[in-house]
Amino acid sequence: MPKLDGEIAFVTGATAGFGEAVAGLFVAEGGRVVASGRRADRLEKLRSRLGDRCLTIALDVRDRHAVEAAVSSLPEDFAEISILVNNAGLALGRAPAWEADIDDWETMIDTNIKGVLYCTRAIMPGMVARDRGHVINVASVAGNHYGPGGPVYGATKSFVTQFAMNTRADLKGRNVRVTSISPGMSETEFDIVRTGDPDVDFYEGFKAMSADDVAQVLLDVVALPPHVNVNTVEVMPLAQTFGPRLVHRGPP
Ligand code: NDP
Repeated sequence: MPKLDGEIAFVTGATAGFGEAVAGLFVAEGGRVVASGRRADRLEKLRSRLGDRCLTIALDVRDRHAVEAAVSSLPEDFAEISILVNNAGLALGRAPAWEADIDDWETMIDTNIKGVLYCTRAIMPGMVARDRGHVINVASVAGNHYGPGGPVYGATKSFVTQFAMNTRADLKGRNVRVTSISPGMSETEFDIVRTGDPDVDFYEGFKAMSADDVAQVLLDVVALPPHVNVNTVEVMPLAQTFGPRLVHRGPP
């Protein structure tokens, strides 16, 4: 029995990683998917793999007007979006705040924060009007725990969770669910984008999560009965855990 019969999902960042896996799984579960991302060639391949129940749109989530135009011009059989997966995002660099490239910060803020805002603002009115929907924001463990090597990336992901839960509070009394999912280390193109090194391998020697693992978590959250709202989920590979008490000993 397909779990997403009758559902229409709008998935951002569907040209790779989690978004691509979510698009495939949601179509396999009987849903229809509007899959978006910037790379048109990847979208074309996705469309031929997934067939007619997948509509692809080349879209940069940083472009507010393009997001609004894409959502308002969806064909009838994809127009009534019932699931929004705000997944498009990236980390750039690992430099501390006093050395980081400000352009990298701007790109992360524009993509991870403003992209989520634009897509939510464009799609949520339809969910509210139909009194039916589920928004899932992809945050990160980096937004839940303090740590070195990416002060702005983690902060953008804290925003994503806070925005999701504040929005959920505003939706009181309506049949629109909101979930923020915070994955840990997952083997996608994320670290290639982060470092700019196509050969980077952070996953050697342990079993990271796959994009399919994370897509399964999203499906499980969506497939719960409509009166059940999973607020936040944090999910890590078993091999990843928490740090010890870190103290600098010695002269300041
Ligand atoms: P990938 O790099 O594999 O995929 C990222 C996706 O985001 C691509 O489809 C990319 O498409 C899209 N994207 C990036 N910028 C834009 C943009 N401006 N407009 C539209 N789409 C964009 O990474 P993941 O699948 O791992 O990442 C997905 C989400 O999960 C991100 O938000 C990431 O921060 C988060 N995350 C990842 C973790 C990991 O360990 N992998 C852990 C925790 C969270 P295109 O380039 O074609 O536009």
